Amino acid sequence: MIKVCKFGGTSMADANAIRKVRDIINSDCDRKYVVVSAPGKRNKEDIKITDTLYSCYSEIMEKGNCNKYFSLIRERFMGIVSDLGLDLDINTILDNTEKEMIENRSADFCASRGEYLSALIFARFIGFEFVDAIDMIRFDSEGRLNIDYTDDKVKNVLKGKENVVIPGFYGKSYEGKVKTFSRGGSDITGSIIARGVKADLYENFTDVSGFLVCDPRIVPMAKTIRQITYKELRELSYMGASVLHSEAIFPVMKKKIPINIKNTFSPQDEGTMIVPNDKYNYREGDPIITGIAGKKDFTVIIIEKSMMNSEVGFIRRVLSVIEHHGLCVEHLPSGIDTLSVVVSSEQLRNGILSDVINEIRENVSPDYIQVIENISLIATVGHGMTRRPGTAGKLFTSLAEAGINVAMIDQGSSELNIIIGVANSDYEKTIKTIYKAFI
Ligand code: ADP
Ligand code: ASP
Ligand code: MG
Repeated sequence: MIKVCKFGGTSMADANAIRKVRDIINSDCDRKYVVVSAPGKRNKEDIKITDTLYSCYSEIMEKGNCNKYFSLIRERFMGIVSDLGLDLDINTILDNTEKEMIENRSADFCASRGEYLSALIFARFIGFEFVDAIDMIRFDSEGRLNIDYTDDKVKNVLKGKENVVIPGFYGKSYEGKVKTFSRGGSDITGSIIARGVKADLYENFTDVSGFLVCDPRIVPMAKTIRQITYKELRELSYMGASVLHSEAIFPVMKKKIPINIKNTFSPQDEGTMIVPNDKYNYREGDPIITGIAGKKDFTVIIIEKSMMNSEVGFIRRVLSVIEHHGLCVEHLPSGIDTLSVVVSSEQLRNGILSDVINEIRENVSPDYIQVIENISLIATVGHGMTRRPGTAGKLFTSLAEAGINVAMIDQGSSELNIIIGVANSDYEKTIKTIYKAFI
């Protein structure tokens, strides 16, 4: 059996956590490939190494050196190496890293050094071989992961190798430079390695015992999801459940490699199993819904026009305005004579919103346009849930009883989720209300 394990920032935050990681790996000889993040927060007030590295980059761009912020990096890594009692010339390694960061003048290169150093130190600590992600992970000319090329590279580079530590979060750009994924991207690295080595299981270790039905910062006693399908997970993580990067399922999905979210600080807990549809097994008492997640700060543009459905090209002309401004559409709920376009508010700053409204007016001459700002989108996810009679009724009754006004409803055609729009100020209350109604 082959297991790929990824350990997140809290698992690598200090020597105590790192010893726990070592024990987890040593307790199971199937754990042959290990992907690590940069040291994260040791407590609520702490700063992640990755954030400090981005500050180093800004300092370099401003002053040509990173004396102020790199001293924090130095302190953290030297502390870890000394607390672990490692015989490693970390001072020289850090000197070289600082020099390279100043020479490179690249935010991605700076940020990647957290994972690089973390993997180097951990490999030495556990006696595994260090293999750099730069030799395996490739992006294409558009900046997207080149999965076929990467997959071949992983197979070749790791062929015949076992007991390996690989830094997460980065790979090589089309131009041959270090390039990172978006934040939280070590989850994707783990998934890529799992695919490449044909793992039986991808274990993703973090600081919670699995995927909870909703964000524990909103419902502190939220239950753990025992089992979830890839598709449900994609919906939840895309909608803001930050446990796993929303793109991390793609590399393993086709190969049907299950992901197990586990807790470094309580490794005996079963955690959450993420499985393909056909491997999902129902158990008596499984809840109707799988999870709830949400994101704040959206703008809904509601366009009304009588008989718009019989006007050929109406939707295309609305969308061409959106496209012309380079905006990503989050949702597009439509009704008879109405079409709503939901866009993240961030994209509409600096007068873009009024330009968009004016252009839509010119393009399709609507009867009426309304804009609702400060909207949160909340997804209630569960496969087959919408086919079960009464689910939507229960959802909306509970919200009405709690006095929450629903500004938008979108029931995806996947029948996997119901997405609603509520005022930002009702965000937490809505999640709590849905949780109480179903769990
Ligand atoms: P790591 O550094 O290990 O990758 P992350 O911080 O990326 O960990 O993800 C774990 C965190 O995600 C948890 O500490 C928790 O605060 C947060 N979180 C948000 N939504 C959920 C959820 N539905 N279930 C569990 N944790 C969640
Ligand atoms: N260290 C990176 C971040 O903080 C990547 C990761 O932890 O997955 O986003
Ligand atoms: Mg993470």
